[in-house]
Amino acid sequence: MSGNSLPVRPVSPSGEGVAIWHSLEVDKALDLLDSHPDSGLTTEEIEQRLQKYGPNELEEHGGRNAWEILLDQFKNIMLLMLIAVAFISGFLDFIAWQTNQLKPGEVPFKDTIAILAIVILNGILGYVQESRAEKALAALKKMASPLVRVIRNGKLLDVAAKDVVPGDVMLIEAGVQISADGRLIEQANLQVRESALTGEAEAVNKQATIQLPEETSLGDRINLVFQGTEVVQGRGKVLVTNTGMTTELGKIAVMLQSVESEPTPLQQRMTQLGNVLVTGSLVLVAIVVIGGIIQARGFSNLQDLLEVSLSMAVAVVPEGLPAVITVTLALGTQRMIRRHALIRKLPAVETLGSVTTICSDKTGTLTQNKMVVQSIYTNLTNFRVTGEGYAPVGEFYLDGEPDNAIVPDEYPAISALLVACAVCNDSVLQKEQGEWAILGDPTEGALVTLAGKVGIEKDQWHSKLPRVSEFPFTSERKRMSVITQVEKIGTGEQSFTDVDPKLAGLINGEPYIMFTKGSPELILARCSEIYISTNSAPLSEEQRSQILAQNDQMASKGLRVLGFAYKPLGEVPPEGSDETSEQNLVWLGLVGMLDAPRPEVRAAVQECREAGIRPVMITGDHQLTARAIATDLGIAQEGDRVLTGQELQRMSDQELEEQVDLVSIYARVAPEHKLRIVQALQRRGRFVAMTGDGVNDAPALKQADIGIAMGITGTDVSKEASDMVLLDDNFATIVAATEEGRVVYTNIRRFIKYILGSNIGEVLTIAAAPLLGLGGVPLTPLQILWMNLVTDGLPALALAVEPPEPDVMKRPPFSPRESIFSRGLGSYMIRIGIVFAIITIILMQWAYHHARAYTEGGLDPERWKTMVFTTLCLAQMGHAIAIRSNNRLTIEMNPFSNLFVLGAVIVTTILQLMLVYVPPLRAFFGTQWLPPTELAICFGFSALMFVWIEMEKLFFRFMGKKTV
Ligand code: ATP
Repeated sequence: MSGNSLPVRPVSPSGEGVAIWHSLEVDKALDLLDSHPDSGLTTEEIEQRLQKYGPNELEEHGGRNAWEILLDQFKNIMLLMLIAVAFISGFLDFIAWQTNQLKPGEVPFKDTIAILAIVILNGILGYVQESRAEKALAALKKMASPLVRVIRNGKLLDVAAKDVVPGDVMLIEAGVQISADGRLIEQANLQVRESALTGEAEAVNKQATIQLPEETSLGDRINLVFQGTEVVQGRGKVLVTNTGMTTELGKIAVMLQSVESEPTPLQQRMTQLGNVLVTGSLVLVAIVVIGGIIQARGFSNLQDLLEVSLSMAVAVVPEGLPAVITVTLALGTQRMIRRHALIRKLPAVETLGSVTTICSDKTGTLTQNKMVVQSIYTNLTNFRVTGEGYAPVGEFYLDGEPDNAIVPDEYPAISALLVACAVCNDSVLQKEQGEWAILGDPTEGALVTLAGKVGIEKDQWHSKLPRVSEFPFTSERKRMSVITQVEKIGTGEQSFTDVDPKLAGLINGEPYIMFTKGSPELILARCSEIYISTNSAPLSEEQRSQILAQNDQMASKGLRVLGFAYKPLGEVPPEGSDETSEQNLVWLGLVGMLDAPRPEVRAAVQECREAGIRPVMITGDHQLTARAIATDLGIAQEGDRVLTGQELQRMSDQELEEQVDLVSIYARVAPEHKLRIVQALQRRGRFVAMTGDGVNDAPALKQADIGIAMGITGTDVSKEASDMVLLDDNFATIVAATEEGRVVYTNIRRFIKYILGSNIGEVLTIAAAPLLGLGGVPLTPLQILWMNLVTDGLPALALAVEPPEPDVMKRPPFSPRESIFSRGLGSYMIRIGIVFAIITIILMQWAYHHARAYTEGGLDPERWKTMVFTTLCLAQMGHAIAIRSNNRLTIEMNPFSNLFVLGAVIVTTILQLMLVYVPPLRAFFGTQWLPPTELAICFGFSALMFVWIEMEKLFFRFMGKKTV
């Protein structure tokens, strides 16, 4: 078929317009899609198909549309109350207008219109923020979207899932979330969990060779794989048949891989707070109205009382707070991304700071995951290997003889071991831009490199010994086997002796040979013979202990050690017979590889400790390897325990719980142990962050308070289960994200203190006016809205980006369950609110009498209200500057370290002055012109707020109390 003729899609061989790929032979399917199992499609074909079929993406359904987002803004109880205030105020204006009681020049319904305008503005702002947040989440989702391994132009490469087209040849393995529908070309022990599609939790065994009747139901189409399902075990090669919305998942249009936007605990608490404030303000209004009526013995002052009540109701509600919180969390996620931590679930931003224990994988997270083989042990002899990186060049030395490199070819045992390294291997070594790099597992990459150092090339050996079956590696099994055919398929001509005469001793004339590699203790336990010189011989107990001692010695140097063995076979063992087949093996040797610790981790571990966070290593590796690396990094300390998977297995949950605080290394564990470890830690009250990369890590990641997946090496399934993804797989990134989490939380507390303190001050000032016998309401609803949204809102936003205080990682974590008002926040708010009110009330009392006494030159006697309004706004500026630090005096801080606060204070002050001095604004906001002396007095009173807070800091410092 020519590359240009594209198949019609959906392809239906029976012409019914429904794809029935499961009823086709693989070759027929390949033919229809004009593809090839070994070379895939060409670049030209891919481009054409991308144009024709579009990207492999699901259209999102079920999300809110623009109108719904807008409408949701008005479901907020505080905005509803403001709307009510607007209507009541409008009603009062209406009566005044009808009864000709309007003051000269007063425009009726001004407050109503202004409040409604601000309500709508607030709604629109909320809408813009939320839709931007949804867009940002969509962008995050793209970043988290998986790569797909495909064969194109005869080469293996990873491409973005959206670029996959029908006809692509896709490789899948354990942990992958399948990105498109396809027909299996080949498979090895492939099990796929299809619950996303069929609801069936049990994984399905897949079979490539089978051909099914057309009417086979979706759940039984075992020769197909479907988008959105998860590979639990094994691997497979798939011909992509359907992409995007034409896949089975596309048909039901469920969006997987979503980044969730659930409200954070703080946002939930803020909603509750809103309810409390609204209820509180209604109660307050009732008290003022009833009290006023009783005082006046009638309804004569009802209108005044209503105005006071309305103002109080508006004043108590922190209108700007929800927006500031949303922005802060969004900025937090942005900052975390810059530090390579991608947040998948918003609550994590806020709760990360509370982490008390970080359980981290070793390989790749604490170490570099760049493996280099340093020593091998075969024929009961130790050899040292040189070389760097993945370049297949290096020398072999007999241990203890550093000067003369050996000729490895002269040692048949080395050749046998390295053939096993090359054959029992799934990774590919290739040169990319002049550099040797591996595609696949670095452990296996190191083995291909090692074999390459003596000229044993993986590709060559794959054709010399074609793979006919395998028992794949899993973290539970900790080993893998491949079964290869010795004779050339079908011919019976070529024997292993011809392949390489040196290795004749391996074969015993059998047609198949199985190579096994894995955790040395496990492999050795399954061996009954040993390959010595050029032949197999019974394995003695002495040899066994010699090998184990050598394994320990390598491991205690921090090397990751693998054991190798082989077994001649008369026939191919059936699938699933690993337990019985991987027995009576012939031992080949040990390979020890170095995976150096990441250099930045040592400092990160130190930082953790200072921040009261305990790092714990959880690894599938040997305990001695784990201990060597943990000690090097500072994770293991005096008195810390190492617990192995075996020991853990024997412990009850109760016993584990008793030990869990003492153990800093878990070695040779299986993924299911991770779940028990998290649960035990949580029962001890710890707030646990846990890393994971494999398919079976998902339950532990879900259970952990912060589940962390690996961005580079992590499986799709683990990412799906996580709260956060490390884009660089690095432990140091977890610590950086924790620091950001603490900063976000501290800043949120900071502006909550700032905003609510002001609200309390406003309410008390308004309530005080009638009590002091001052006529009228000092602040109109419009002015209050201005303060709450603009003069409080801008500095609050600036406080949200306050840089971390120097001690942010030098103190223990706070409980995630603590109330937002704990640690003095509640009392601060009330205290500062009262101080705020006292300052303004004194000013108000003075201004009232002063303004009435001096009215020459056309000065308005009502301008005392403008003085109160201005003082309240300006006092908040001093508050904003002082609250930047809880403990340090403002003069001890760099005024330029948060230019936003400085900028917000200057802009807000200018805006406030414009309200007093620009005539149209003055008319609109109902303010009066102030002579300069009176303005200076407002500034003077406002400054007292700043002075008070600084004095408080000195006082607490003197008392030795630190507030945080
Ligand atoms: P972690 O990432 O959790 O620190 P790990 O990556 O060392 O641990 P696994 O990948 O589960 O854990 O490996 C566990 C053990 O399985 C290794 O110590 C090694 O002995 C063996 N092993 C690892 N990779 C392979 C492989 N590709 N083939 C065979 N055995 C392997």
